[in-house]
Amino acid sequence: MKAAVVRAFGEPLVIEERPDPEPGPGQVRIRVEASGLCHTDIHAAHGDWPVKPDPPFVPGHEGVGLVEALGDGVTHLHIGQRVAVPWLGRACGRCEHCLSGWETLCEQQINTGYGCDGGYAEKMLAWADFAQPVPENLTPFDAAPLTCAGVTTYKALKVADVRPTQLVAVSGVGGLGHLAVQYAKIAGATVAAIDVTDDKLELARELGADLVIDAREQDVGAELKKHGGAHAAIALAVNRTAFEAVNSGLRRGGKLVMVALPAHGTIQVPIFDTVLNGTAIIGSIVGTRQDLAEVFRLHAAGRTRVIHETRPLASVNESIDAVLRGEIKARIVFDLGADG
Ligand code: NAD
Ligand code: ZN
Ligand code: ZN
Repeated sequence: MKAAVVRAFGEPLVIEERPDPEPGPGQVRIRVEASGLCHTDIHAAHGDWPVKPDPPFVPGHEGVGLVEALGDGVTHLHIGQRVAVPWLGRACGRCEHCLSGWETLCEQQINTGYGCDGGYAEKMLAWADFAQPVPENLTPFDAAPLTCAGVTTYKALKVADVRPTQLVAVSGVGGLGHLAVQYAKIAGATVAAIDVTDDKLELARELGADLVIDAREQDVGAELKKHGGAHAAIALAVNRTAFEAVNSGLRRGGKLVMVALPAHGTIQVPIFDTVLNGTAIIGSIVGTRQDLAEVFRLHAAGRTRVIHETRPLASVNESIDAVLRGEIKARIVFDLGADG
C-alpha cells in the first residue's frame, strides 16, 4: 500500500510503498477512501509544537474508509462498514477526564497521524472503539473534513456556550472556519467572519455570515465593537496577531476560544481590559466521539455544507504549499482511489 511519510521535519513528504498493517487486538484495518488535509498535519510535518511526533510517521486525522480486517475482540464493527478516524485515536477510558465526558483531555490519549500512523495512506489501522461509524448518506469526501474541522469547531461553539441572541466572531474562514460559520448560524447566532483573502470572505457570506471583516484593511476589534462586541470569538487563524485582534473585539463578559495552534504561539493579553471587562480565554481541543456523532447527524440531516477540493495523494507536497499560501477555498481531501 502507498503512504505519504514525514521522514524529517520540514522536508517534503515521501510517497512510500509499505506492507499492509496488521490490526492488533481491539483494532481494525481500514481501506482509506478519503483523507482531509488539516493545517495540523502541516504543523506535524514541520515539528511546530512543543510536543513533537517521531519521524518517520504518516500524518492525517481525517481518514475515512471501509473496514477490511478486524483484530481480536472487535465485535461492534463489520467488514465493509464505513468509519472515520479522528485525531483522538484512543483514550484510556478510565481517568477522571474520560469518565467525566472529557476524553479529549485524557493524558494517555494517542493521536492519529501524530502518535501513530494516520490517514495519508491507502490503508490504516484504528482502535475500533474510536473509529466513528459514518452514516449511510454521507460521502467519504464530506465525512473527512467533518472528522476534524467539523467536530473541532462544533465543540468550540459548545465550549463558548453560544446562544441565539449572541454575536460570534469566526477568525479565519479556512477548513475549520467554513464549518464554524455554519455551526454558529445553526446555534442561532449573528456571525462576523474575519479573513485576509477575498475568496474566503465571499465564501463566508455564501455560508451565512451576517458580516465580514477584512483583517488586511479593517481594524477587527473596532469593527466588532461597532456591533456591540463579540460574545464569543473563535480563533482559527494560524497567526498570533489575529488572536490579539479578535480578543480586542470581545464585549464585556465575552469569551475568546483558542483553537488554532501557530508555531511558538503566545499572545499579549492586556490584564486591565481582561479584568475590567470580565472576559475569558478558553482552549478547545477537537471533540469527543459523541460530538463527532452529532456533527455527522447534522450533516446527514442536510444542515451543513462541506466545501472541499479532491486531489490525489501524490499531490501532497503541492497541496501543503497551496494551503500555506491561502489558495484553498476550504479543505483539500485526498482521494485514495485516484491514480497518483
Ligand atoms: P486553514 O489554513 O485552512 O485556515 C486558516 C485560515 O485563516 C485561512 O482561511 C487564512 O486565510 C486565515 N487567516 C490567515 N491570517 C489571518 C488573519 N490575520 N486574520 C484572519 N484570518 C486569517 O487551517 P485549518 O485547517 O482551518 O486549521 C486552523 C488552525 O487550527 C491550525 O493551526 C490547526 O492546527 C488548528 N487546529 C486546531 C484544532 C484543535 O482541536 N484545537 C483542531 C484542528 C485544527
Ligand atoms: Zn485537524
Ligand atoms: Zn483517560
